[in-house]
Amino acid sequence: MLDFDRQHLWHPYASMVDPLRCWPVASAAGCRLRLADGRELVDGMSSWWCAIHGYNHPALNAALEEQIPRMAHVMFGGLTHEPAVALGQRLLDIVPAGLDRVFFADSGSVSVEVAIKMALQYWFAQGRPQKARLLTIRGGYHGDTFGAMAACDPVNGMHERFRPVLAQHLFAPRPRSRFGEPLQPGDLEAFEALIAAHAQELAAVILEPIVQGAGGMWFYSAEYLAGVAALCRQYGVLLIADEIATGFGRSGRLFACEHAGITPDILCLGKALTGGYLTLAATLATERVARGISADGGLLMHGPTFMANPLACAVAARSIELLLESPWQARVAAIEAQLRAGLGPLAAHPAVAEVRVLGAIGVVETREPVPMAALQAHFVAQGAWIRPFGRLVYLMPPYTISPEELGLLIHAVASGLDTLA
Ligand code: PMP
Repeated sequence: MLDFDRQHLWHPYASMVDPLRCWPVASAAGCRLRLADGRELVDGMSSWWCAIHGYNHPALNAALEEQIPRMAHVMFGGLTHEPAVALGQRLLDIVPAGLDRVFFADSGSVSVEVAIKMALQYWFAQGRPQKARLLTIRGGYHGDTFGAMAACDPVNGMHERFRPVLAQHLFAPRPRSRFGEPLQPGDLEAFEALIAAHAQELAAVILEPIVQGAGGMWFYSAEYLAGVAALCRQYGVLLIADEIATGFGRSGRLFACEHAGITPDILCLGKALTGGYLTLAATLATERVARGISADGGLLMHGPTFMANPLACAVAARSIELLLESPWQARVAAIEAQLRAGLGPLAAHPAVAEVRVLGAIGVVETREPVPMAALQAHFVAQGAWIRPFGRLVYLMPPYTISPEELGLLIHAVASGLDTLA
């Protein structure tokens, strides 16, 4: 199996000539992955922010089992179904007030493409086609498709390789104001200088609210986010909040926008939307944006084959129910406290530049890029599934993780840092 995989299957961001090692996983249950050789690993990744309830959850399994005999899939063009409607209703009940229209996309990146289209089509329909650029903040990540990629951080993103075909957007400095701290002088001024100078050509500001994920795991001040939202209103620019990673409780609030009490014009959700079961994302818009897009009789020009897939919608609706019925705030707060207590002291480690914790996210930023293959092998030997990248070793476990399991992960991080000397 491994030979075929190595010779024929591409993995994320991987070489086909000299791929890094992969571990075959046979099954997963609760917060553990069972490898083909029988070893169990405690999951510190939630499969890239998705599996918030852990794996093989009876309620989520049941949602799929109930839906399969009804229909696994039907096209969404000209048809609709109860799973999509029920999920739409559920989402509108919980997202920041004012968001009213839902587009079901098939992955996070696609939901970002749809969000960008919504913003561009909105201004086009208002007779302002010159408003077609985006403004974002450095250190962001929005996905790997071309539209999304163009809004990723221009240095640590993939701009170098694809520059000739990427849309040229504007980048404000990454806010220095940290989460939980007041706004630092200069942060919002730098942003305002750009939005003021370019408002006539800007369709939207796109950002990850509060938590910048794959672009650097940086948590910034809610006052900055509130300030950006106010500037967007002041200068007539739409605000797209990418909550694909933060949505559904990860930052300690159901949605990270809540930290600043804002409602964006357009909101992207994905990842934990289905509890990690199937690929599904959503782009939500306010009534004003939706009506604006269609003001000239225009149609929103997107329609993926697997749009609103019934299986994905059914499991997503059940996942949201499960989350809301659970003591998720207390669980996330307990994870946060344990991450602070366990990872915090590692700030003094010679290999460590900084430790940051927010909600169920714990980040150890190292001084030098980590040797990913060696460190990952160390973690596996410790019974932990943790996938570091660049100078970031981080934990974002399922909310259902036990203190003992989280303790094992924290210990694995600490011992992993000792191997970096
Ligand atoms: N936006 C953010 C904030 C993300 O973290 C990600 C995925 N890491 C994406 C967009 C892209 O989502 P997907 O991988 O499902 O296309």
